[in-house]
Amino acid sequence: MASSDLLSLRGQVAVVTGASAGIGRACAVELARAGADVAVSFHGSHEGAAETVSRIEALGRRAIAVQGDVGTETDVISLFDETERQLGPADIVVSNAGLQRDAALSDMTLDDWETVIRTNLTGGFLIAREAVRRFRAKGRRPEVSRALGKLIFDSSVHQRIPWALHVNYAASKGGLKLLMESVAQEVASEGIRVNAVAPGAIATDINRTEREKQGGMDAMLTLIPHGRVGDPEDVGRVVAFLASDASDYIVGQTLFVDGGMALYPGFRGNG
Ligand code: NAD
Repeated sequence: MASSDLLSLRGQVAVVTGASAGIGRACAVELARAGADVAVSFHGSHEGAAETVSRIEALGRRAIAVQGDVGTETDVISLFDETERQLGPADIVVSNAGLQRDAALSDMTLDDWETVIRTNLTGGFLIAREAVRRFRAKGRRPEVSRALGKLIFDSSVHQRIPWALHVNYAASKGGLKLLMESVAQEVASEGIRVNAVAPGAIATDINRTEREKQGGMDAMLTLIPHGRVGDPEDVGRVVAFLASDASDYIVGQTLFVDGGMALYPGFRGNG
C-alpha cells in the first residue's frame, strides 16, 4: 500500500464531539478532507454546527449535526445511535469537547469544579466507553482500516504542566491522560487504537479573552518556542494522522501539538 493510501480515511465514519467551533471543527474538516464522513456533535451552537457540516459537504463528504451534552449518558448513547442510523457505525471517534471555568482555588466553587470535571473527564469516559462498545459491535472492516476502531482524545499541555488558577482544568486533563493510557492498554489487543493530542495555545474561543487583553498575546508567545500561536488546523491534521493507518503502530501515546510549549521554555536563557 502506498503511504498516501495509508493516510486515507475513505469509506470510514467519524464522530467528533464539540465540533461546532475551534479545534473540534478543524478535526471534523481534516478528517473529511482525508475522506471520512463525519457526525458533528455539538452542545449549544446550531449555527456553528451547520457551518462545520457545510464545510465538510463542500469537500464532497457526508455530515450530520447531532446535539447533546458529553457529560450526559443518554446524550452520548443517542449520538452514536443517530450516527449509525444516518451515516453507519463509527470507525473513528474524537473526544474533543471541553471547557474552562477559571478561578483561584480559594474562590473556585464546587460548580466550577464539577462542570469542568463532568465535561472534560466524565465526558471522555462516556465517549470512550460507547466508542469501544460500538467498535466491537461493528466488527473489523479490513477494506477501510487495519484497526477495529480509532479513539483520539483532545487533552492539553496541562496534562503535564501544572496550571495555577486553573486547578479544575489541569486536574481534568491529568485525569484524561491516565484514562487514555489505561483504555489503550485494555483494548489494544482487540485492534482498537487509543491515543491523544495535547494542544498548547491554539487560537479559539476558549482563550480569546486572554489573547485579546492588553499584553496577553506577548505573554503567551514567551511560552511558545515556535514563535506563534497555533491554528486549530495544526491539531486537526495530527488527529487525522492518528486516525489513519499511517499511525497504525502508535498506541497509548500523546502527541504534543504545542510549538514547544512543553519544553520548559523558561530555561532557554540558561535557566
Ligand atoms: P472552543 O470553546 O472553541 O470549543 C469547545 C467545544 O466544546 C465547543 O464546540 C463547545 O460547544 C463544546 N462543549 C463544551 N461543553 C460541552 C458539553 N458539555 N457537551 C458537548 N460539547 C461541549 O475551544 P477549543 O479550544 O476548540 O477546545 C476544544 C478542546 O481542545 C477542549 O477539550 C480544550 O480543553 C482543548 N484544548 C484547547 C486548547 C487551546 O489553546 N485552544 C489547548 C489545549 C487543549
